[in-house]
Amino acid sequence: MSDQPGPQGLTHSGVMDWMTRFAATVRSVEPELTALDQKAGDGDFGANLVTGMDGVRRALDALAASVGNGGSRRGPDAPLDAAARVFLDDVGGTSGPLFGLLFQELADALGMAADPPGTAALALGTAAGAAAIQRVGEAEVGDKTMVDALVPAARALASCEPTADPAHALHVAAVAAHRGARSTTDLRARRGRASYTGDHARGVPDPGALAVALLFASAHAELTSLSRLPVA
Ligand code: ADP
Ligand code: MG
Repeated sequence: MSDQPGPQGLTHSGVMDWMTRFAATVRSVEPELTALDQKAGDGDFGANLVTGMDGVRRALDALAASVGNGGSRRGPDAPLDAAARVFLDDVGGTSGPLFGLLFQELADALGMAADPPGTAALALGTAAGAAAIQRVGEAEVGDKTMVDALVPAARALASCEPTADPAHALHVAAVAAHRGARSTTDLRARRGRASYTGDHARGVPDPGALAVALLFASAHAELTSLSRLPVA
């Protein structure tokens, strides 16, 4: 079994494995995400996310080589920082830079935490990521966006004991994000390209919100389908 966030806190290799599992999950689930964005948006969301996470995988390989040479600091924030650079600099669509902001805030919170960072840092980073995305994208909960998954995930993390096992906290966040993503199904989109499709988006869950749930769920396992997302 690969390295998962353990009770001792988040490690460099644990976060490397988390991001690697998320990249594999995104590749497996891309057809489902594309189908949802074809119904509710312009159809490019799955491709944007795969492009991003393929770039992250290459950045993680470069990071691993650099750490091996003694060229980079071996912190748990480094893989998230690498992911942020890729999404902020290279990934298109509305979602690309917004995921970049989430990765950046998570990296900053883990980087500033006492060593080793755990649940308290995850809660701070996720809340800061949600706030940054809302500042830039101006979406509120109920607008049928990734914010509908991220805000409940941040609340769920904040409700965990700060010293709780981060593996447990990430599972709680995945369950809350999935519930939030499912709650978008009957909503009309008010942000992004999905807002141009009017009532066509009703009956379709928001793919960006589901991707937030996939991110937290990938802390535990690579997922092969949206049907594998955890429920309480
Ligand atoms: P676009 O809407 O520009 O085609 P993508 O297809 O890359 O962007 O991403 C679509 C996803 O981005 C949506 O499923 C939604 O979750 C998210 N999104 C779109 N606009 C916003 C926004 N203003 N704030 C937060 N998330 C948004
Ligand atoms: Mg789109």
